[in-house]
Amino acid sequence: AAAVLSPLVPADADERLLDTFARLDGLLTVSSSALHQIVVSMASEFRRGLAKDGRSLKMIPSFVTSLPSGQEIDSVLALDLGGSNFRVCQVQLQGHGRVRTTQRKYTVPDRLKEGTGTELFDFFADCVAEFVREHPPAGGSDGHTLGFTFSFPVQQTSINHGTLMHWSKGFTASGVVGVDVVTLLQQAFERKKVKVNVTALVNDTVGTLVAHAYTNPQTYVGVILGTGTNAAYMERLSEVPKWAGGKDGNMIINTEWGAYDAPALPITEFDQALDRASANPKMQIFEKLISGMYLGEIVRIILTSLVASGELFGGRTSPDLNRPYHFETAYMSRIERDHSLELADTMNLFTDLLGISWSTLDDRRIVKHVCQLVGLRAARLSAAGIAAIVTKINCLDGCTVAIDGSLFEQYPHFQSRMRDALYEILGINADNIILEQARDGSGQGAALIALLHRNE
Ligand code: BGC
Ligand code: MG
Repeated sequence: AAAVLSPLVPADADERLLDTFARLDGLLTVSSSALHQIVVSMASEFRRGLAKDGRSLKMIPSFVTSLPSGQEIDSVLALDLGGSNFRVCQVQLQGHGRVRTTQRKYTVPDRLKEGTGTELFDFFADCVAEFVREHPPAGGSDGHTLGFTFSFPVQQTSINHGTLMHWSKGFTASGVVGVDVVTLLQQAFERKKVKVNVTALVNDTVGTLVAHAYTNPQTYVGVILGTGTNAAYMERLSEVPKWAGGKDGNMIINTEWGAYDAPALPITEFDQALDRASANPKMQIFEKLISGMYLGEIVRIILTSLVASGELFGGRTSPDLNRPYHFETAYMSRIERDHSLELADTMNLFTDLLGISWSTLDDRRIVKHVCQLVGLRAARLSAAGIAAIVTKINCLDGCTVAIDGSLFEQYPHFQSRMRDALYEILGINADNIILEQARDGSGQGAALIALLHRNE
């Protein structure tokens, strides 16, 4: 436990430094018992969301009722709008669990995220048009089947229709909330004369789960730990009272766990400050504690408060440190990876990226400690979410969780910290829960689902 509470207490630390460390530890540490409470509370929110719409967890039925066999063979397009990236992919399903993907990545410019929906969807259609010109449909068919991965909370009304409930991750494009996003996309294709038929609309978590199940049939949970965070899992329909259709069989449920908010969460004054100033106050509270879009900003807010109290940088700030969202989560990764003598690389980062050339070794130790605490808290909360799901579906005797996203893939120690927390929560049962890296599965999954539902 000591290692969890104080990942980095230098042997030669003086009293002042120890005081600062202890105060930060107190604020940002999530104890084992807090994790247990979160698991219990979250599992009960899952049940409430499955019973009735309008609860804090949306528990959205995805209309996806089966996992692929791995034997499907075809070529399908996918369009994948995540948090920071937008991809067009051609997915070739080759049978025997083998998939080949040809893809192009685009960055969605901020002005399109914040502009009109029409401009945003025209941009998608333009990208697809360009891609289709380069990769024409095979074998004389006159158009393409396409799966649309749209990584936002959507109230799904059928396998290929659904309305956006609210934006997240900094998107605010007008005219999209409350509207069917497939209609918007299909209309943009018509304006641009692109012959494409959208036969599936899926969340990235659902796509990740389905794609992973194509190669590993033990997969029942899909998680994204990237710019945003969310999870989907395979549920028995008999456990979904709000589902009006038949109660036999299973369906993938998109939990939208990013919206989880409960007294059990370890919200600090810093988290509250971040939330107040965000594009979506009081929403996506769990996401704001965990995901890549926010971790750097939490650290920045903590650092400015430590400067204000005179504990950091001799009480002197810089314009870059004062600028919201300027301190990226990638900076935390770099600082956590800094094992150089006297944290020299952290010093370089301060000078080059924050305009702070006056840091002392103690300053750098404090900043590294803050990064470790915020990164550790995020990993532990993510593990609690996964524990809540595997507990809910009672798959403690064996289950693979497919996880995609930059945090899980790239943030130092994120995976081992999650593992450790999972053991704290589940004991030896954690042995049976396999956390597997999934890469770019969201588009592949959408393609698979589009294929399975092409004739509906
Ligand atoms: C969205 C989810 C999405 C997640 C990961 C969240 O902000 O609400 O729908 O799955 O980000 O991309
Ligand atoms: Mg993605």
